[in-house]
Amino acid sequence: MIVNALTIAGSDSGGGAGIQADLKTFSALGAYGMSVITALTAQNTQGVHAVLAVPPDFVLAQLDAVLADIRVNSVKIGMLANAEIVAAVARGLRQHRPACVVLDTVMIAKGGHPLLLPEAIAGIRDELLPLADLITPNLPEAAALLGGTQAQTEQQMQDQGRALLQMGAQAVLMKGGHLGGNESPDWLITPAGFTRFAAQRIPTQHTHGTGCTLSAALAALRPKHPDWPSTMQAAKNYLLAAIAAADQLQVGQGIGPVQH
Ligand code: PLP
Repeated sequence: MIVNALTIAGSDSGGGAGIQADLKTFSALGAYGMSVITALTAQNTQGVHAVLAVPPDFVLAQLDAVLADIRVNSVKIGMLANAEIVAAVARGLRQHRPACVVLDTVMIAKGGHPLLLPEAIAGIRDELLPLADLITPNLPEAAALLGGTQAQTEQQMQDQGRALLQMGAQAVLMKGGHLGGNESPDWLITPAGFTRFAAQRIPTQHTHGTGCTLSAALAALRPKHPDWPSTMQAAKNYLLAAIAAADQLQVGQGIGPVQH
């Protein structure tokens, strides 16, 4: 079976993150990719220059068109820009109930530019979290969803992951890249238990779009794997290979993308 995977996310004109990273990841992993575009960003490896949000009705029109006709095996959600788009996506998902929703709780780009208005965080927490099969927050995003402080230890990562599970997500991947140190530990928290994934940090500055790539890989791979831990191991292996190959690219003067 060829997996039909849908990304609901923002466009990165520089090709490194967002819709472009998602579709490259889907293709590389053998899935058929589709896109619902929520926002355009004028962006390169040096940063986000401007954002143009798509009208919420048109986000919903794209979602309705895809889901009315095409069997969708999995969905990845990324940049949602504002509260109205969050509400439109939640409405569409409640109506169509597609299988396997991976919610990447995108809030701020690595360069510091906001990709979600702060007032939209409540909608992500209250409307989208309960519709997600897996959420993939980094540590600042987990803290924002919980209204608390950023985890400093792996024990706090696990505690916050459990709290997010109690808020309605079916499974939580706490990404530990912000902890620092030689290892970048991730904790997967499901009702079945806790699983730690760690890898040595790869020495490159080219990590633009890593979060997008991981969540897209999780969506592409989940239908072919028995559970989230085995899906995550395969997705993480894909991401690590893409980071390891990033320095082969000659793309821009700033934080360059990974190579799919
Ligand atoms: N631009 C878009 C459209 C995105 O969706 C994302 C990530 O989710 C980014 C930029 C941020 O990428 P990074 O923080 O890896 O630079």
